Amino acid sequence: MVRTLIAGNWKMNGSPASLAVIEAVVAGLGEGGPADCLICPPATLIAQAADAARGSLLAIGGQDCHAVESGAHTGDIAAEMLAGAGASHVILGHSERRADHNETDAIVAAKAEAALRAGLTPIVCVGESLEQREAGETLSVIDAQLAGSLPDSFANAGFVVAYEPIWAIGTGKVADTTQIGEVHAAIRQTLAKRFGSTGEGAPILYGGSMKPGNAAEILAVDDVNGGLIGGASLKAEDFLAIYAAAQ
Ligand code: PEP
Repeated sequence: MVRTLIAGNWKMNGSPASLAVIEAVVAGLGEGGPADCLICPPATLIAQAADAARGSLLAIGGQDCHAVESGAHTGDIAAEMLAGAGASHVILGHSERRADHNETDAIVAAKAEAALRAGLTPIVCVGESLEQREAGETLSVIDAQLAGSLPDSFANAGFVVAYEPIWAIGTGKVADTTQIGEVHAAIRQTLAKRFGSTGEGAPILYGGSMKPGNAAEILAVDDVNGGLIGGASLKAEDFLAIYAAAQ
């Protein structure tokens, strides 16, 4: 049985006033249930968010990290710095970072190693473009991303994979449950083959316009072990409604 994870990605959104959202989520989770819950705010808010969430069911994560521990990398953040600020997870290889910062699979794999080194749980994102889907390349694209972005050390570590079709992120378009089921089953097979029992137990999240209105249907698909939620994680009410759908 894979434990469900409902994770929010605030992207480049949030100010100190947004800590009220963290507090509302903490209050709304209460004693919680069978699912884990995570919010990844911008780096500027991680320490305060972690303080606000301390002792609750809500975990706090980063949205990216550098591969090395320290050095001359202006503007970058080491995995160790995220951990020191109170993060427990880090999103890596999000399609926006792959596109905006030319992150390759090899770079993502190096960042994933860094996350493990710092004691963080990496959430590695994969997903096809609309053009690749229409060309019938979805499964081969995902397989290549998994092969290149997941380091061999995942065989001995806790990790998470997020399937995020690029065409469904922030667009309001959602992959249908058949499309989601097909990709998640293929990802599970690949993870189990490569990483054995660790691969069998790693949560596979769906991401792409998940909302309170579609969460229950998506979360019921085989091999969907949670969600990575962008826009709908910015409002406590919506995010908590998605969490409730995971029960
Ligand atoms: C995301 O940022 O990973 C995401 C899935 O965004 P949205 O839910 O807004 O589509």
